Amino acid sequence: MAKQVRVRFAPSPTGGLHIGGLRTALYNYLFARHQGGSFVLRIEDTDQARKVAGAEDYIRETLDWAGISPDESPWQGGDYGPYRQSERLDIYRQYAEQLVAAGHAYYAFDTPEELQAMRERLQAAKAAQQQYGIVTREQMTNSLTLSEAETRQRLQSGEPFVIRLKVPAGRTVVVEDVIRGHVEVATEQIDDKVLLKSDGYPTYHLANVVDDHLMQVTHVIRGEEWLPSAPLHVLLYQLLGWEDTMPVFAHLPLLLKPEGSGKLSKRDADKHGFPIFPLAWTDPRTGEEAAGFREQGYLPEAVVNFLALLGWNPGTDEELFDRQRLIELFDLQRINKSGVKFDIEKARWFNQQYLKNTPVTTLADWFTEQADRHGVTCAPDKAVAIAEALRERITLVPDLWQQGAFFLVAPDSYDEKVARKKWSTEVATVLQDFANRLNEELVQDGEATKQALWETAQTHGMGIGKVMPGLRLALTGSGGGPDLMTIIAILGAEETRQRIARAIERLS
Ligand code: GLU
Repeated sequence: MAKQVRVRFAPSPTGGLHIGGLRTALYNYLFARHQGGSFVLRIEDTDQARKVAGAEDYIRETLDWAGISPDESPWQGGDYGPYRQSERLDIYRQYAEQLVAAGHAYYAFDTPEELQAMRERLQAAKAAQQQYGIVTREQMTNSLTLSEAETRQRLQSGEPFVIRLKVPAGRTVVVEDVIRGHVEVATEQIDDKVLLKSDGYPTYHLANVVDDHLMQVTHVIRGEEWLPSAPLHVLLYQLLGWEDTMPVFAHLPLLLKPEGSGKLSKRDADKHGFPIFPLAWTDPRTGEEAAGFREQGYLPEAVVNFLALLGWNPGTDEELFDRQRLIELFDLQRINKSGVKFDIEKARWFNQQYLKNTPVTTLADWFTEQADRHGVTCAPDKAVAIAEALRERITLVPDLWQQGAFFLVAPDSYDEKVARKKWSTEVATVLQDFANRLNEELVQDGEATKQALWETAQTHGMGIGKVMPGLRLALTGSGGGPDLMTIIAILGAEETRQRIARAIERLS
């Protein structure tokens, strides 16, 4: 029987989760669900200096919002916990010591000044490899160059030390990546990475590999920025004797700037005026606030659909996939190798599609909440009619109020350009006559209302096309919007009459 699939999303709580991080989480989730496996969330908080308060809660809230909650996590537990690396320090130390005992790692006592001196020496000599590694380790202060007795004495006296990996010389490390293919690296290229730091915390590399092994992770699906670390991870699996259970690696393509070259950054997002965080995020250190997709009125289902196709090809021309379809179709084979341009217009398009498919009663509820927030009440029937009138026109949730406030609040200013071009005394006369003909029964019949407008215009020798823009301006204050007869029906005869009267007074 094939091994039970287990994947993990392993963010470091160092700030708000970038939208690319949410894509990584989503691909792990979709793969796990497709395979009937488990989706694990692990918090990689071994870098105490970079840990940011609130970041872990932010990750949790983001995954909840997107509906991709894990099966195992620090919050709900599971059989392989604890799921926060800061709670697993003893485990990492034990494996670091095991590597030392096996001759695959060593204690190093070099001070920051000594390390600096080493770098300067190598730079001056223009050495090909300027790293703590196969060549240089022999000149440094570590358990390879010190006698056993001295090493023991230094450890016992509490001198600060790190544990470094002893990278074996003359080997080629091979990474078989499902997406990137075959990657080969000579061990001479790999430095003697610190595995355990002097504060007793592991580095990312050790903790990540130990946890993936102990948590029985079968597939490592993560961003391309980790591809350079993969050979080191493979080497660690080999030296720890875990080669048989090495996970499958899949490094996801980078998200690129809208212009298409270079990695998408917060600066690019700011420049183009779109969010880069799923939820709004305030950095507790700087107080800096950043916008979120949620707050800007993107629906989570739309964002999920958008992200799913940002690097993965479903193999059909369709673009709209609900979660169930994504799970059915998702595989690692059809993930692109090359980076993908981040196109916010596409995200907006998806949102528009999902808004169109949102039940009108839900849209009405959102509109009513937005009205409430502006201190305006809206009757339920009216909210439904307004939502119906707007549903094909909106892109983001707040557009409901932005485009529909006029239904509840009469305009107190009029678009000047439209007024200059479309308003005239003649138009005002027609609208006055038209207003006089209105009654509640008539306005509920769009065709009849239009007929009445047409007839009124005719009696003044005008076409309906000449008066419609002025009527719209009087009712909404602007030159665009939903169907005019629908607007009149929703406003009702009395309100329509009042708005026409007001416009005549103000514009003439
Ligand atoms: N903690 C790493 C990060 O923040 C995880 C990388 C990995 O998935 O191995 O992205």
